[in-house]
This record gives sequence, C-alpha cells and structure tokens, in this order.
Amino acid sequence: MARLRIDSARLNSQIGALACISEAPAPVVTRVLFSEADLKARAFAKTICYELGLSISEDAVGNIFARWRGSNPKLSPVATGSHIDAIPNAGRYDGVVGVLGALEAISALKEAGFQPERSIELIIFTAEEPTRFGIGCLGSRLLSGALSLSRAKALRDPEGRDLNYWRKRLGLGKQDMKSVRLQRNCYSAFVELHIEQGPILEKERIPIGVVEKIAAPSTLRVQLTGVGGHAGAVLMPHRRDALLAGAEIALAVEESACSTGSPDTVATTGVFRIEPGAVNSIPCRAWLEIDLRDTRLHTRDAALKRIESAISKICRRRRIQFKLEKLNVDSPAICAPSLVNTVTSVCGELGLGMKKMVSRAYHDSLFMAQICPTTMIFIPCRGGVSHRPDEYSSPSQIKTGVEVLAHTLAKLSAKGSSSQIAR
Ligand SMILES: [Zn+2]
Repeated sequence: MARLRIDSARLNSQIGALACISEAPAPVVTRVLFSEADLKARAFAKTICYELGLSISEDAVGNIFARWRGSNPKLSPVATGSHIDAIPNAGRYDGVVGVLGALEAISALKEAGFQPERSIELIIFTAEEPTRFGIGCLGSRLLSGALSLSRAKALRDPEGRDLNYWRKRLGLGKQDMKSVRLQRNCYSAFVELHIEQGPILEKERIPIGVVEKIAAPSTLRVQLTGVGGHAGAVLMPHRRDALLAGAEIALAVEESACSTGSPDTVATTGVFRIEPGAVNSIPCRAWLEIDLRDTRLHTRDAALKRIESAISKICRRRRIQFKLEKLNVDSPAICAPSLVNTVTSVCGELGLGMKKMVSRAYHDSLFMAQICPTTMIFIPCRGGVSHRPDEYSSPSQIKTGVEVLAHTLAKLSAKGSSSQIAR
C-alpha cells in the first residue's frame, strides 16, 4: 500500500484540546478517574470515534471500545489503544498519544481507501493510573482476569466509595461485572503506541522503540506501629520508634534490589509518612509504600522475599507491630515475537531507525499480553520526562509513531496480511 498521510496538525490540535480538559490550570493535566474532567475527556474521545464512523461500546467498568468493522467480521479483530486518565500534575502525552494517535491512524487508513479484513478496535482503558483506587491498570486487569471480581469489589477510594458507586454514576450499574473479562485470543493482536517515559530513544536519536518485554511490577504497603512518647523523657533503651524501623526497612529495600545479580531489579520506597510528626515526639506510626520491578520473575521474587523477611526481622528486633499488604505482584510480559517483527519490518519499509526495548514502566499492554499477542511502539520524549507538566514529544515524533502504528494495523488487518509499503 502507499505511504499514509498523517495529519499532524489535526492530531496536535486534538491533543491540545484534550489537555485543556483538566482539573488544574494549563500546562498541568490532572484527570483523576471518574472526575468531571475524566468524564469530559471520555466524551471528547467518543466524539472523534463517532466522526470516524466507528461503533462504540462500553463495558461494566467503563472501558471504551470503538470498532472499525472489517470485511470479515468473523475474524478476531486487531486491537490498539491506551488511556486518557492522568495522575495529578501530569502532562498531555502519556496515554493520550496512544488513543488520539490510534484515531489519527484509523483516519489516515480510511482516507487512503484502505479496507481492513479483520476489524480494527480502539480500546480506551479505564484507570491506567492508580489515581482513585490505588491500583493501576484497573480496566485491563479486569479485561484479562488478572484482578478478581472480589478484589475489585473490595476497592475503596479515599472517600470510602466503591467501584459500584461510580459505575452507577456513570450509568453502567445495570451491566454485569462478570461480562468485563475477555476470552483468550479474542483479539488477534494488541499494539499500544506510547511515549517512552525514559531517555534512551532521545539520547540515541532513534525515532521508534519496539517493546519486547515489560518489567514485572509489585507494590507493597507497610504500616508500622510503635510507641510514641516525649522526646526528652523516654530513654533510648525503652524506645519503640516506628520511623527508625521504617528507615531500616527502606535501606533493606535498596539492598534487596542491589543484591539480586540482575541489573534490571529496581526498588523504591516512594512513600514514607510518620505520625505524629512533631520535633519533640517519638514517631509512633509510619507508612511506607514500596515499588519493586524486574524483567525476570525469579530475581524479582527473590528480592520480594528478602524485603519481606527484612521487615519481620527489623520489626521483631525493634518491637514494632507491622502490617504488610501486597497491593499487586504481577508477572512480566514477553511481547509476541511475530508482532515485534511486524513493527520492525514496517520501520524498515518506512526507512526509520528502530531499537528493541524493555518497558520499565508498565502499561495496559502488560495485562493485554496475558490474553493476546501484544507489543508496544515507543516514541521519544524530551529528557525522558513523564508524569510532569513539561512532558513533551514533538509533533513530528508523534507523527512518525502514528505512521508506524497505522502501517502496522494495516498489515495485521489486511487480507493476506503482508502488503509492502510503496515508498
Ligand atoms: Zn501511560
């Protein structure tokens, strides 16, 4: 097929318009799950889907599906997509490039007169970010069955409201939560376009990354309870200081990641709060949240075990009570080699440099990979910065990513499938 014409100006004005739908003034983008801004953003994306003639459906947790019907609708569709929710104080490209970029890809294919044999489906996932319920990728976890319905029903937001409360508010209350889970191989492929959120592509001046693996994330929450008291009156041998136990735990977290022998193990204590937080008072309570990731499951799990045993040893020695919650312990995803090859050959035909990569951030693709062949297309972002208002990818970098996505979708959905791109 001919090289496609991606309308970069149209796409960038849509990205700009979506960035204005935010709970905070520009350039900050904040779209907490099910907030007014999130709902308006969903409506904005749906309007573009309608304009493109896609048929839209929504499941019981608000995952949105927009389908371009193929000439043989019996074949399993090719899927693409990402998310439009955003953490507080975020930028305009994370997730959005994969949603509006996919719509631009579909638009370019339609304008070129392409007719897919397999249907092409855009998925806008609910809650990729852990903003309301403290768990990321809520929509794709439920689609893939990685999160059980009983655990989903037990989730509460900071105001104590559950998923059902929000489902009713969105008008989804009548739909059965059981219907969210998708069958294995209901899609023939899933390809997600995303900004890299890391510095490699920019540094090496490579326009496209093709993801081969997505690191396995896990998140722990530790609550420590010691005994408070007057900072002058309680002598050192009698103290049960929750902060000091937490400080030792944070060091043990670092040590556990450094000692696995894998360069890919990373661990972070990103939350550390204490009570009462007064200079003349011994900290009686502490909360830690620990993020641990690795591309290999056995080294990740070894680090996890070390952290768990360090927590219990430290707390025993310091006479501190602890509660350990594992918020998520996920497996890594290995992307489908056939899809990695398809994207690689598209880059070759378009004359674009590419690099095979590991995604160290996780995405909805981590869970889609559990039910269908999956890969991701990365584009560079300035300084590797993401989850900040100054997050930036240039219009031409985005255009290149959309072009690769569009040609990939064409190859995966076309009859006979391996059409060459004329240059
Ligand atoms: Zn994202």
